Amino acid sequence: MSVPTIASVKIRETIQTFQHTTPMRYATYSTKHNPTPRLGIVSGDRVTDAAALAASSWQGEAPSSLLALITAGPKAWARLANLASRTPSSDVESHAAMDIRWHAPIPRPSKNVACIGKNWAEHAREIAKSLGQEPTIPKFPVFFTKAPTTVVGPFDDVVWDPAVTQQVDWEVELAAILGRTGRNIARGDALDHVFGYTVLNDVTARDLQRSHQQFYKGKSLDTFCPMGPVVVTADEFGDPQAKSLTCRVNGVVKQQGVTGDMIYPVDAIIESLSLGMTLEAGDIIATGTPDGVGFGRTPPEFLADGDVLETAVEGIGMMRNIMRAPTGRRP
Ligand code: ZN
Repeated sequence: MSVPTIASVKIRETIQTFQHTTPMRYATYSTKHNPTPRLGIVSGDRVTDAAALAASSWQGEAPSSLLALITAGPKAWARLANLASRTPSSDVESHAAMDIRWHAPIPRPSKNVACIGKNWAEHAREIAKSLGQEPTIPKFPVFFTKAPTTVVGPFDDVVWDPAVTQQVDWEVELAAILGRTGRNIARGDALDHVFGYTVLNDVTARDLQRSHQQFYKGKSLDTFCPMGPVVVTADEFGDPQAKSLTCRVNGVVKQQGVTGDMIYPVDAIIESLSLGMTLEAGDIIATGTPDGVGFGRTPPEFLADGDVLETAVEGIGMMRNIMRAPTGRRP
């Protein structure tokens, strides 16, 4: 029998800690009295302040944001989860969900949000049809990104200048937030690299996406990436390929899909994206949208000032964003 090396014991400990994280739902929030966005733990309709929870027993500085918690690693996640499960919510600062401002779970990602295009066959077909092309299923995942400055909260307005774009469209998506840094991640290990999941609306200026040829600009206008309302940890979320996604505009269902229909499932996306390229803890990957976008409809439909856009993923929750396209002045 071989004696385990220190390195292999350490790796095993890390993996075990990772797998035994208590399921959690995290939010980033602020209040009227304390407008600094900070980490909250969501339980039912209450949000507990993570820093207040950690204050009494945390050695060193407790993570003040979700990104700080994620990068602090599996031991910190387990500690916070243990504290949350042991401490009665009446003992620490907590707020009713209705009373807080909800920010994006990671309000300012440290790099671009990675996205995948044409990840549903029906969506690939509707795009091809509207462009008068033959539908093709991509041989490799189609990767593009959104700038970090696009990110807004789950109930914030989406704002644009009608002089810049006239073709604003919706895309409900499941987003994976990585918890472990890695490169050349094997498909079988990929889901162990995911910290949790959230809802992401990949709002798109179709006219800019077309005229500039590459997707970057049309996907990266300010406010074009609502995210939230919570991050559900991977162990609570379960199988990412067994969830439904819904998008409604002014109460009318426009998109309804299941993640089981993705061409490249979450693990395959991570495997492919990480080939020769380091993916870091805190990175966000949007996994594509099902059919039913406005651009693929006959006639095409685009968002207008005052429209209410609701996007939801089963097991996470729903975002509601109001569209603002004021004419006559730069928003
Ligand atoms: Zn998208």
